[in-house]
Amino acid sequence: MTLPIPPQPGIMDIELYQGGRSAIAGRTDVLKLSSNENPLGPVPAAMQAVGQVVADMHRYPSTDHAALRTAIGEVWSLDPARIICGVGSDEVLQFVTQAFAGPGDEIIHTEHGFSLYPVLIKMAGATGVCVPEAGRRVDVDAILGAVTDATRIVLLTNPGNPTGTRLPDADLARLVDALPERILLVIDAAYTEYAAGYDGGASFAATRPNVLMTRTFSKIYGLGGLRIGWGYGPQWMIDVMTRIRQPFNLSTVQLAAAEAAVRDTAWVRDCVALNDAQRARLTGALGQLGLAVDPSETNFVLARFADAAEAKSAADALEAEGILVRGVAGYGFPEGLRITVGDAAQTGRVIETLGKWRAAA
Ligand SMILES: *Cc1c(COP(=O)(O)O)cnc(C)c1O
Repeated sequence: MTLPIPPQPGIMDIELYQGGRSAIAGRTDVLKLSSNENPLGPVPAAMQAVGQVVADMHRYPSTDHAALRTAIGEVWSLDPARIICGVGSDEVLQFVTQAFAGPGDEIIHTEHGFSLYPVLIKMAGATGVCVPEAGRRVDVDAILGAVTDATRIVLLTNPGNPTGTRLPDADLARLVDALPERILLVIDAAYTEYAAGYDGGASFAATRPNVLMTRTFSKIYGLGGLRIGWGYGPQWMIDVMTRIRQPFNLSTVQLAAAEAAVRDTAWVRDCVALNDAQRARLTGALGQLGLAVDPSETNFVLARFADAAEAKSAADALEAEGILVRGVAGYGFPEGLRITVGDAAQTGRVIETLGKWRAAA
């Protein structure tokens, strides 16, 4: 393609990210279970905080995010100086790929990892090295086997999306120990709150010179539309990334909402309890319908059907009832559907619809 003004090399090779669908033509009662959003909506404390700052929108926001970093540090027992905040964790992931990799450098990611990674890798001009997983689980040996002199970064989704599985702590420790310290390990821990007993990799980010943990307000806090995420890592790494962070990347509204959200620890507890109960119910019901489902440590499950045609038939049946789930062929699962865990009534609708679909087949 010839363009009037040629962009930088590689830019036109970037494919646009495909998000989960949110609409069905002609329907207003759509149940969207395609993007792992919180069925309870935004955390109310954030909505309240936003109302209080709208009158300040003529003021520029804080550039150092000190109040939000302090709140995150207090709630999660982390050093606020080692936290960096971004426009979603997506932006933090962009900081790290842009700051530490470029043309000629390799970034390792895994077969079923987050589909944004190839986009970010190309944005940095680096080369992606995709390694296989084993039985829908991250394979530490495959990652270590792919390391070369050109490797700069390893991007790990843990728990995984769309697999929902988590690398056991002992395996994560083995990866951290075996990876040369010249290679930066990113633990993308967007679903930490839903994984019992997991710290998101915070202990490694706190003690190792080469580990970054990324976290988000998009999932359990129900603030995906507001775009706030953060990273935790060694001081030197945070200082590097801060140099390529725009000074006003987060708005007054984002900062106020996130600070109120993170302090609402009761909300997180309630959402985890709801998710635990409905995830177990959904997993059990799918199993009874003869579908394969790995135990999930997230707010979604990956249902595996006999083949792509059967998965499509089930997705069509759900869509006919106004329910949107996520096809995951692009993540290497043509036979799979990723279904966000809803509240009790929503989960009931999914189970009932799939039950009828199965009975009619
Ligand atoms: C949802 C999700 C995120 C969060 O992205 P934001 O930019 O914070 O909304 C990050 N990583 C994975 C794997 C996710 O599924």
